[in-house]
Amino acid sequence: PPSSGDDYLARLNPEQREAVETLDGPVLILAGAGTGKTRVLTTRFAHLLKTGRAWPGQVLAVTFTNKAAREMRERVSAILGQPAEGLWLGTFHSLCARMLRRHAELVGLTSAFTILDTDDQMRLLKQVMDAAGIDLKRWPAPGLMAQIQRWKDRGLTAERVTPAEDTDYAGGRARALYAAYQSRLRDLNCCDFGDLMLHMTEVFRGHPEVLADWNRRLRYILVDEYQDTNLVQYYWLRLLAQSHRNICCVGDDDQSIYSWRGAEIENILRFEKDFPNAKVVRLEANYRSTKPILAAAAHLIAHNAGRLGKTLRAGRKDAEGDKVRVVSLWDSEEEARMVGERIESARRNGHKLAEIAILVRAGFQTRAFEERLIVLGLPYRVVGGLKFYERAEIRDAMAYLRILAQPADDLAFERIVNTPKRGLGETAMRRMHELARAEGIPLVLAAERLVPSLTAKPRQALGALLQGIGRWREGLAKEGHVVVAATLLDESGYTDMWKADKSPEAPGRLENLKELIRALGEFESLAGFLEHVALVMENDENSEGDRLSLMTLHAAKGLEFDTVFLPGWEEGLFPHSRAMEEGGDKGVEEERRLAYVGITRARRHAIISTAANRRIYGNWSASIPSRFLDELPPDQIQREGSASMARARVAEMPSVFTGPSGLMARKPRVIEAGAWEAPVRPPPANPFKVGERVFHKKFGYGVVTAVDDNRVDVDFEKSDPKRVMDSFLERP
Ligand code: ATP
Ligand code: MG
Repeated sequence: PPSSGDDYLARLNPEQREAVETLDGPVLILAGAGTGKTRVLTTRFAHLLKTGRAWPGQVLAVTFTNKAAREMRERVSAILGQPAEGLWLGTFHSLCARMLRRHAELVGLTSAFTILDTDDQMRLLKQVMDAAGIDLKRWPAPGLMAQIQRWKDRGLTAERVTPAEDTDYAGGRARALYAAYQSRLRDLNCCDFGDLMLHMTEVFRGHPEVLADWNRRLRYILVDEYQDTNLVQYYWLRLLAQSHRNICCVGDDDQSIYSWRGAEIENILRFEKDFPNAKVVRLEANYRSTKPILAAAAHLIAHNAGRLGKTLRAGRKDAEGDKVRVVSLWDSEEEARMVGERIESARRNGHKLAEIAILVRAGFQTRAFEERLIVLGLPYRVVGGLKFYERAEIRDAMAYLRILAQPADDLAFERIVNTPKRGLGETAMRRMHELARAEGIPLVLAAERLVPSLTAKPRQALGALLQGIGRWREGLAKEGHVVVAATLLDESGYTDMWKADKSPEAPGRLENLKELIRALGEFESLAGFLEHVALVMENDENSEGDRLSLMTLHAAKGLEFDTVFLPGWEEGLFPHSRAMEEGGDKGVEEERRLAYVGITRARRHAIISTAANRRIYGNWSASIPSRFLDELPPDQIQREGSASMARARVAEMPSVFTGPSGLMARKPRVIEAGAWEAPVRPPPANPFKVGERVFHKKFGYGVVTAVDDNRVDVDFEKSDPKRVMDSFLERP
C-alpha cells in the first residue's frame, strides 16, 4: 500500500532513515538489489517538500525510464497527500530536452527545435558524407554514426575530439564529418538524442551565468540507477551540483548492465573523488525477496571479479520460501508450454497476473511465449518494447510475404517498395499511386508499368524487386515457404539493411527475423502462417486490467514481481554470444550482472529454465546449458527434469531417434555439459483424433477430418474446412 501522511519515516529502517534525513551535502547510496534504494530516494524527495526545505520545482530527480518517473511521482504525491505538480522529474533525456528548450539559442537552435529519430539522423549523416565525397560503400554511414554517438556519450563535441582519437575512419576524417553533421543539424534546427545531453553540458560550460541560475534554482539532486550513467550524464550532474553539492545518487555496481550504451561504472568512483567527504550509505537488508532467491543471486554474482563488495541479507519477516526452480526442457516450445501451464495454475490459485513476469535475454524469445499466452487466453503486455508481430522489422518482413500471397495487397507493397531504400522519390511514388487509381489496378502492377520511365537507379532497383517478387512467388511451390522467406529477405537487401545498421538495436532485429523464419517453419504453408498471424494480432485487445508482463532483462531493472520466469538459460543465448565475442570476460561479467538483475526481480518464486534444443530452419540444434546454472548454490535450488531421468528415458524410448515426426529425423546430440543435461524426449503427439468434435476460438465448432504433427484439418460448421494449429483447438 502507498505510504501516506507523516508515518513515511517510520516505514524506513535506521540506515534508510539516515539516508533520507541527511539532506545536505553529497550522499552516495551503494547497495544491493531490493534494499530500498528507490524507496529511499522517493521518500527523500517527499521529505524535502514536506519539511519545506524545497519547493517542488527546486528538486531535480532522474530516473532510468519514464515509467519509473511516473511511479515516483505517484509515490511522492501519496506521501504529500496531494498531487505533486511542476516537478523536475524524469529521465536524463526528458529533463535535458526540457532545459534545452529554454537555452536553445545558445547552441544555435531555436526553442522549437526538432529531435530527430534514428532514421532521420542516418539520412542526414549520409547526405553530409555524400557532400564530402566519401565513398559510402567503403565507409558505411552507420559506423560513423556509432562513433559520433560514442563521442557524445563521453561529452565530446567535434572540437573536443583529439586528433589521436580520430583514427582509421575514412582516412582520419571522422572528426571533420562529425563537425559537418552538427552544423547541418543546426541549419535544420534539429538535434539528435545524444545532443540533448551534450548541448546542455556545453551551455553550462560556456555560460556560467546560466549554470549559476540553474544552481540556484535546483537545490537538490536525486539520481536513481546511478551505476548506469554515462560520462556526459555525469558531467551534467556534476555541473548542476557543483555549487550546493546537494546530490544524492543511489546505485548498485552489480546491476550495471548498460556498458554497451556507454554507461561507465567508474562514475561511482568519480563521485567519491569529485565530491570528497560524500556520505556513503550502505543498505544491507533486502525487503524484496525470500532467502533462497537472495542466496541464488548472491552465489551467482560472487563469480564476478572486481566488485565493490556488499552484504545482502534477508530483511523480510516472511523470508523463508520455496527454492529457486531450475527446469530442463526439450525445446523452446515445451519451455513456453511449461511457463504457460504454471501461469495458468497460479491464476487458478488466485494469483494476480500483474504479479508475474517473464524475463528474456533477447527480444526474439518473446514470440514463443506470446503465442502460448494467446492460446491460453492469458492477457499480457510487452514492457519497454513491442509485441513480436508489431515490431517494425517483422511488419516489413510480413509485408514481403503478404505481397507473395496476395499481389493486390497495396498496403504491403507500399511498405516494402522503398524499404530498403531503392531511390524512389516522392514524385515516383505519386505517379505510381495515380496510375493505380486511374486504371483500377494494384500498386504492384502500376509499379511494373512505371519502371521503364524511371531514372537509372530506381529503375534498376525497382525492376529487381518486381522480378524478385515473381521469382519468390514461384519458389513457394518448389522450395517451400521457409526457404523462400529466408531467400527473399537476403535478395531484397532487407537483411543487409539491418546488417549495415550499427545501432545497438540492429542485432536484435536480425535475431527477430531469424525467429520469424523459425515461426514459418511451424506452418505447412505461407497462407496458413499469414492466417495465424492475423489471428494473433486480432487477439490483441487494448483493454486495461490484469495482465502479466513480458520483457527483456534490461527492461526489468528496478521492477519487482511475486513470480519471475527466467527462460533460455543456454550458452550463446545467455550468456549471449555477442556479449562474449565483443566483451570477452568483461562481456560475460556483464551478462552475469544481468542474471543477477533477473533473479533479484522475484519476491517469492523464481523459475529458471533451459531448453536442450532450439529449432533452426526446421532442424534441431542442441544447446548447452548456461554456465550460470552451475554457479547457483545447489542447496538453494530445486531441479526438475534431471539428467538421470533423461538417460532413463532415452533407454526406454529408442523411437526418439527415429520418431514419427519428420523434424525428429536428425538425432539430437546428447549434451555433455556436466550436471545440466535436459530430458530428451519427443514432442508430445497431437492430442486430437479424427472424428472428434472440437472448438476453435475464431471458427467455432467443427469435426476433425485429419491430424498430423501439430496441425489438424477441421470441417467447421459455420466456416469452410481449414487446417489449423492444434494448440488453437479445444475440446468442447
Ligand atoms: P533495485 O536495486 O532492484 O532497484 P531497490 O534497492 O531500489 O532495488 P526498492 O525497489 O526501493 O529497492 O525496494 C524493494 C522492495 O522493498 C520494495 O517493495 C519496497 O517497498 C520494499 N522496502 C524497502 N524498504 C523497506 C522497509 N524498510 N520495510 C519494508 N519494506 C521495504
Ligand atoms: Mg531501485
